[in-house]
Amino acid sequence: MDPKTFFTLPKLRYEFGALEPFISSDQLKLHYEKHHQAYVDGANKILSKLEQARKKDLDLDIKALSKELSFNLGGHILHSLFWKNLAPQIGENEGPQGTLKSILEGEFKSLGRFKKEFSKTAVSVEGSGWAALCWCKPLKKPLIIQIEKHNLNLIPDLPMLMVLDVWEHAYYLDYENMRATFVDAFWNIVNWAEVNKRLEENLPENLSQPQ
Ligand code: FE
Repeated sequence: MDPKTFFTLPKLRYEFGALEPFISSDQLKLHYEKHHQAYVDGANKILSKLEQARKKDLDLDIKALSKELSFNLGGHILHSLFWKNLAPQIGENEGPQGTLKSILEGEFKSLGRFKKEFSKTAVSVEGSGWAALCWCKPLKKPLIIQIEKHNLNLIPDLPMLMVLDVWEHAYYLDYENMRATFVDAFWNIVNWAEVNKRLEENLPENLSQPQ
């Protein structure tokens, strides 16, 4: 029996070739159509299995299923965010604006320092994983975190503003094993307006004006 569709691959807001030369059309197509699709399929399969087992009152290996679910659903959610925080290169001087700019400069002292810390976070992920810029609500501060695979070291309830996939499947066609070169290239195609939008959605009112 085919798994039920709980999740679907979200539509990209740009063409496969739109992020060149930083991410090639072939690399993006493979990443999106094969890898991201596999997490969507994986999550649908597990959720269908759970549903079926409840209907027929079957036993399940809940521990194994829980791990698989967090891996696949984490992969789907992170990739969906990643595609949105990428955009074709607009111009050399484009960078964070408005609230995002003032909050990043306030916390990291300069945009250069923020980029350096984020890049180091991405480059130093052990094995496969992600770097993520999050908004820490209790501290009212931006926080950079590292995620292994799609689900390990993830801190609950930190809304993500920007994520970078550093699984080798994200860059091997274009950069072979040179993750740091891919991370440098990423800065050319950040959709800063999207990152700012997500920040503003999570800010308390007294912080929502640029300082
Ligand atoms: Fe990926």
